[in-house]
Amino acid sequence: MLRSVILAASRSSQVERLVATAPFTRDVVRRFVAGAGTDDALRATRELVADGLAVTLDNLGEDTVTPEQANATRDEYLKLLRLLSAAGLTPAAEVSVKLSALGQMFDEQLAYDNARAICAAADAAGTTVTLDMEDHTTTDSTLDVLAKLRKDYPSTGAVLQAYLRRTESDCRELAGAGSRVRLCKGAYKEPESVAYQSAREVDRSYVRCLNVLMAGDGYPMLATHDPRLIAIGEDRARWFDRGPDRFEFQMLYGIRPEEQARLVGEGYTVRTYLPYGEDWYGYLMRRLAERPANLMFFGRALMSKK
Ligand SMILES: Cc1cc2nc3c(=O)[nH]c(=O)nc-3n(C[C@H](O)[C@H](O)[C@H](O)COP(=O)(O)OP(=O)(O)OC[C@H]3O[C@@H](n4cnc5c(N)ncnc54)[C@H](O)[C@@H]3O)c2cc1C
Repeated sequence: MLRSVILAASRSSQVERLVATAPFTRDVVRRFVAGAGTDDALRATRELVADGLAVTLDNLGEDTVTPEQANATRDEYLKLLRLLSAAGLTPAAEVSVKLSALGQMFDEQLAYDNARAICAAADAAGTTVTLDMEDHTTTDSTLDVLAKLRKDYPSTGAVLQAYLRRTESDCRELAGAGSRVRLCKGAYKEPESVAYQSAREVDRSYVRCLNVLMAGDGYPMLATHDPRLIAIGEDRARWFDRGPDRFEFQMLYGIRPEEQARLVGEGYTVRTYLPYGEDWYGYLMRRLAERPANLMFFGRALMSKK
């Protein structure tokens, strides 16, 4: 119920104006988002890398409906990669890209061309690209684009969502040598026909998929904040003798930072997913909807800054 209310708020321009102009907003947003500009992204990346974390940067955008918007997103990534390289932050920092932001909804070829340009720039900067996964109607298209990109840029990473019934089989397809796969639970509301609905089923699927990836020859990227799944990941890393160069944990910026530091202290590779950009509102609201307990943080900031 609360989740639905927050998701409805995420689509309301009135609530957006209210949140964006509230005096406490900056601090709250800054917990989950680097800031609006490329310079904010670089500053936050520098801080994370200094703390021993790897980073994947996401330029936040919503509803790309024209080729001009798609090309502007591509250009922002090209600029970001140039600046990361010049600052000596690659390969510790890579980029995460949503094909929808590159035009996938209206022109798959354009999205592919734009993604390819970003992969070329990442390659020149000595780093990698991971294609975020969106709702299930885009999975086939995204995996097709991935396969084409991997012909020239084999380190391009995929995201697979454990809540989808198809994912265990996709993990088997993508568990080969050189394949980078981020495994997450999945963030979209999906129908029962394609996705497990209960948390228990999703968790069990996550473990099955994790086993397939950790037993395979690729590079698993375990994206979760879930303590039980992290413990299972640590266990399988020991079992399959995977050192810090053969798999990694990933978490979102601002979520369980102490756990991220603990894992770094244990010698694991941990990558923080760092969003930045003008369009932070939808992202922030989805984080709040995912875990309404984050609202407490929001509320405390409100009380203390008023
Ligand atoms: C690096 C990264 C990239 C992602 N990329 C994608 C993508 O491309 N596509 C996609 O659909 N989804 C993506 N996601 C989102 C993902 O699918 C989940 O929606 C999100 O990570 C929440 O699932 P969870 O595994 O953290 O566990 P949850 O089921 O949300 O939480 C499980 C447990 O983790 C702990 N926990 C979770 N959040 C917190 C918190 N804020 N504070 C303290 N404890 C907490 C709690 O103990 C909780 O009970 C990504 C997530 C990460 C981390």
